[in-house]
Amino acid sequence: MRALQYRSIGSAPEVVEIPTPEPGPGQVRLKVTAAGLCHSDTFLMGLPAEQYIYGLPLTLGHEGAGIVDKLGDGATGVAVGDSVAVYGPWGCGHCHACSEGRENYCTNAGALGIAPPGLGAPGAMADYLIVDDSRHLIPLDDLDPVDTVSLTDAGLTPYHAIVSCLDRLYPGSTAVVIGAGGLGHVAIQILRAITSARIVALDIDEDKLALAREVGADLTFPSNTDAVAAIRNATGGVGAQVVFDFVGTQPTLDIAQQSVAMDGKIQIVGIGGGVLPTGFFSTPFGASVQAPYWGSRSELIEVFDLARRGFVKVHVERFTLEEAPHAYERLHAGTISGRAVVVP
Ligand code: NAD
Ligand code: ZN
Ligand code: ZN
Repeated sequence: MRALQYRSIGSAPEVVEIPTPEPGPGQVRLKVTAAGLCHSDTFLMGLPAEQYIYGLPLTLGHEGAGIVDKLGDGATGVAVGDSVAVYGPWGCGHCHACSEGRENYCTNAGALGIAPPGLGAPGAMADYLIVDDSRHLIPLDDLDPVDTVSLTDAGLTPYHAIVSCLDRLYPGSTAVVIGAGGLGHVAIQILRAITSARIVALDIDEDKLALAREVGADLTFPSNTDAVAAIRNATGGVGAQVVFDFVGTQPTLDIAQQSVAMDGKIQIVGIGGGVLPTGFFSTPFGASVQAPYWGSRSELIEVFDLARRGFVKVHVERFTLEEAPHAYERLHAGTISGRAVVVP
């Protein structure tokens, strides 16, 4: 089969021919229908050898959907022909967090060597994908896999970040979304769908700000040193009850820290390498900072239900598997609008 692999440190990913994998006991093989590109892929491909922990060669793709194609011995819960999406943050299935469906916070995954597809295990940018257990599969039914595959990360991650601070997003509150890219443009729609907060989006790219307005942002500002004053001005000096930072670099975390309201919350989702030193006098009274990771299985079910009701629509740019290396170049250059999705 064909697979898009990151094969050596610092090189571009390439499409290669590898043996089609067979599902082992309990596993499920999918014929991939769609696989999304995430900025985290470009992050890991930019790591130096001493920090790179994902194994080589790595088949990319941690947003995956497919048709169940073959069941390993003893696999139950899905049938050949089912259209499914993959819940990516695989855990041990047995610890306290996993028992709550929050496998994104599994306490055993690291020690057991369990890694998400595309982030250690072979990913979805291939003709076929092996999924370790049918509990990681969410039925898509009549949802289009290309339109919805990115909800498994670009939908689930913002959803988890938003529901973790719903109490702050009351009528009259303001939510700031920094970075209106793959995750950010879905975050804006989720905020619209499940809260009545006013939404302010920041980005460095005018086209992304236009997309932010199109999907529901009330106000948009360029992400620069004037942004803090613009947010303070728009909130009568109070600041934003929640700031979602989908970039996470030093300039954006500085904006987050300076524009959050008292008793507000900063959700650091972007892995841009910035730090937010907190101390009594460095953040407003009562403010808290969280670094949420991906989301739970039940949250993913809820995200797909939002899509079924028409509340969330990923802005998708399609690519073939052969075009995927080019799609990564465009993601790296910041010229993808919404989410890039590979259709093998
Ligand atoms: P993306 O490239 O699709 O979007 C990033 C957006 O940020 C773009 O619109 C870009 O123009 C904008 N941007 C860049 N610099 C900016 C700045 N200084 N101020 C404001 N906007 C700026 O990326 P994505 O796939 O949406 O991922 C967003 C971030 O979230 C990445 O860092 C990614 O690695 C991370 N991520 C984290 C998790 C998690 O579980 N915490 C999950 C998925 C992705
Ligand atoms: Zn991701
Ligand atoms: Zn676990």
